[in-house]
Amino acid sequence: MPDIQTPDKTRDKKLPSHAKVVVIGGGVVGCSILFHLAKFGWKDVVLLERNELTSGSSWHAAGQIHTISSDPNISRLQSYTIDLYKEIEELSGHSVGLHITGGFYLASNKTWYDYLKRERSKARYMGLNQEFISPKEVAERHPLIDPSHYLAALWDDQDGDLDPSGATYAFAKAARVYGAQYFTHTPATATAQRADGSWDVRTPKGVINAEHIVNCGGLWAREVGHMQGVHLPVQPMEHHYLLTEKIDAVANHPTRLPCGIDYEANIYFRQERQGMLLGTYEPKGTPWKVAGTPWEFGHELLQPDLERIADRLELGFERIPALGQVGIKDAINGPFTFGPDGNPMIGPVPGMRNYWVAVGVMAGFCQGGGVGLSLAEWMIDGEPSIDVWAMDVARFGEFATPDWGTVKSTENYERRFVMTFPNETLPKGRVQKTTALHDRLVAKGARMDQSFGLEHALWFANGPEDAHEDPSFERNRSHEYVAREVAVVRNAVGGIEIANFAKHAFKGAGARAYLNQILAGHIPLPGRLSLTPMLTPKGRLYGDLTIACLAEDHFMLVGSGSMQEAHRRWFEASLPGNVAYSNVSDLWHGIALSGPKSRDLLARICRDDVSGLALKFRDTRHCFVGGVPVILNRISFSGELGFEIYCRPHYLLRLAQAIEDAGADLGYQWYGARALMSLRLEKGWGAWGLDYRPDFNVVESGLDGFVNWKKEFVGKSAAAEQKASGARRKLVSLVVDVDGIDVSNDEAILKNGRAIGYVCSGGYAHHAQKSMAMGYVEIAHSAPGSQLDIEILGKTYQAEVLGAPIYDPNGDKMRG
Ligand SMILES: Cc1cc2nc3c(=O)[nH]c(=O)nc-3n(C[C@H](O)[C@H](O)[C@H](O)COP(=O)(O)OP(=O)(O)OC[C@H]3O[C@@H](n4cnc5c(N)ncnc54)[C@H](O)[C@@H]3O)c2cc1C
Repeated sequence: MPDIQTPDKTRDKKLPSHAKVVVIGGGVVGCSILFHLAKFGWKDVVLLERNELTSGSSWHAAGQIHTISSDPNISRLQSYTIDLYKEIEELSGHSVGLHITGGFYLASNKTWYDYLKRERSKARYMGLNQEFISPKEVAERHPLIDPSHYLAALWDDQDGDLDPSGATYAFAKAARVYGAQYFTHTPATATAQRADGSWDVRTPKGVINAEHIVNCGGLWAREVGHMQGVHLPVQPMEHHYLLTEKIDAVANHPTRLPCGIDYEANIYFRQERQGMLLGTYEPKGTPWKVAGTPWEFGHELLQPDLERIADRLELGFERIPALGQVGIKDAINGPFTFGPDGNPMIGPVPGMRNYWVAVGVMAGFCQGGGVGLSLAEWMIDGEPSIDVWAMDVARFGEFATPDWGTVKSTENYERRFVMTFPNETLPKGRVQKTTALHDRLVAKGARMDQSFGLEHALWFANGPEDAHEDPSFERNRSHEYVAREVAVVRNAVGGIEIANFAKHAFKGAGARAYLNQILAGHIPLPGRLSLTPMLTPKGRLYGDLTIACLAEDHFMLVGSGSMQEAHRRWFEASLPGNVAYSNVSDLWHGIALSGPKSRDLLARICRDDVSGLALKFRDTRHCFVGGVPVILNRISFSGELGFEIYCRPHYLLRLAQAIEDAGADLGYQWYGARALMSLRLEKGWGAWGLDYRPDFNVVESGLDGFVNWKKEFVGKSAAAEQKASGARRKLVSLVVDVDGIDVSNDEAILKNGRAIGYVCSGGYAHHAQKSMAMGYVEIAHSAPGSQLDIEILGKTYQAEVLGAPIYDPNGDKMRG
């Protein structure tokens, strides 16, 4: 077990009365943030620790470090974190006990082998050094492992282990080299905001006023949040690892043994002194202190319960037999904090000013450096240098209550080494938020999923009993049902629920001017709609929005449902006094009709003239449909003639009934999100969060066609520079020559074996009957007709870059 460090001599130092930033919590995350802020030039930064540094989960971590993560940018940041340890060791003079041994990810069955092939493909374009090795090579590198259990292993040079306590202290002391200060035995007992937006942080040593505060409370993140009414959906979980007695084969091995993860056995392992360390995530997780972490909890461990992990240990002993042949020297059970999807929650809390969090970091030694880097960039530069959406606290909203957080965090703990397939829906914490259509659609056979807490239909089976699927990397039984929905939209008329789109309302005399400034595109005249990108000051995409001008001083923006809190935070940060803004996503539900017969259907239930002359493409209006008041937008994401009908939630059932009744003889059917994604692929339209996100700019994404270059707007000078210097990569659509499998995302795009880009989204285009992908490729390979390869599950498939949408390239059907 790692040593606890000697108490810091600075504990009795006088607390300053003011600082630019106060970081609350001296675990690895808080110390990394302190380090990065000071390194990047904010010297006047102070960290408060209620006890000694590392007094939460940081001191008893297993200290294993690796780069693999479900999110490519988190992988990149994990790689950055590992590289950083040498720097902070040298700077601080404090050993981090780093051993870069390299590590294995062991595949004991085809599914895990496929998973690792996907990871390898990702690593190719990220430039990470990962390669497959055979079971024989596994045994050569780690003679304790029984190779007969494995098909192969993915090897990563960068993996290893460190001393968690040493690493935390090294961050803190390196921060001090850059001028930061930290104070131990200085608990923050209360936080209060002044009228100027600054914060008073109360401690037993006095009050310190700061422009910004950062909650890095780790095991106490919830309690620190409660001081300000911030309810973070994180949950500490109990976790075990074992340390064995000396193993001769370890002691006599000439070099330190590599570390590893065996997913199927659900174990991780590494060398610890002359023995081994073995940890596991048991199938039934044990949340710790659901009601709150006691302030008295210090450098303590929990009572081990080996019964709970007995099955996993047995598997571990089977695969690394030497572990079962020696005694257990120590069994560690310690709590650490998980978030609902397993990723950290960082950034400014929406609805608050100068209140930042970096919490729920469940792999602090793999991720702490990257979290510190990204948060410091965000605070100092206004935005992180890479897209950290997968870690943004704003991906959770009001729906993410503490109870929901406990349920989902527990699920995530249990699934830490359990496969989640790209088409898999997770079962826990469901039906948290529903619309009036939920039961009706389920009764019709909807297979549902959850997005930003809200249930929505993925695809429709033949009734509820039929609404099941086996998650897989390949196409599954939903494929034929989705084909049926696509056919309905292309040939007749389909309806999809659109409650899960975000809606933002802007009212007031200054609304037009404000939107003109914050959005890069044209702001429509009353009664009209337009599409517009939204950019950060550095010219990165921060939104892809539809804007409806309902009146000269009243606009409704429609955008990504999952980004709604992030967008609220963005708007509120710059809102002038003469604009009233609100996130009205939950106040407007609705249904989008699409298909050649959608106008016929609409005409039957709307008294207004909805002919092409009276309701033109990109018109918007208040009217009545199905006898209820609505906002009617003539627009569609399917590439067909289409209408979005937004109504208040209490009218939704009535509207749905009217549509079903009027559409029966027109072939009306409901369709789900998978069909919509297939339809938009045929049009070559990117989707927010996949093809459009802050990693990309307006020029390379092709959204520059929607920019109004004649006006001033946020991000204009950066975007103009990007335009002038030309894109180095470009978003393209590709047709992929596959054999029953489609891309999902993150696959490498290759030219002569070299990764020249990667897939952002894709799947099967059912109407065109082609497998398609969208991805960013080097500009030299972006020309229509370019012949490329895409690596799917380790096999390469030919792909051709398209020059125009494969369906209705001129948009005649949509405009018709
Ligand atoms: C058994 C076990 C094994 C693990 N193995 C690994 C591993 O192999 N690799 C890996 O990367 N991660 C591992 N982890 C996870 C890792 O320990 C955590 O991700 C990491 O410690 C989180 O750090 P933190 O700074 O967010 O939180 P914490 O370490 O909990 O730190 C929070 C700090 O804030 C202080 N604090 C709280 N409230 C206040 C207040 N009001 N005022 C002042 N100070 C306050 C606390 O005293 C504490 O020191 C493991 C964890 C456990 C329990």
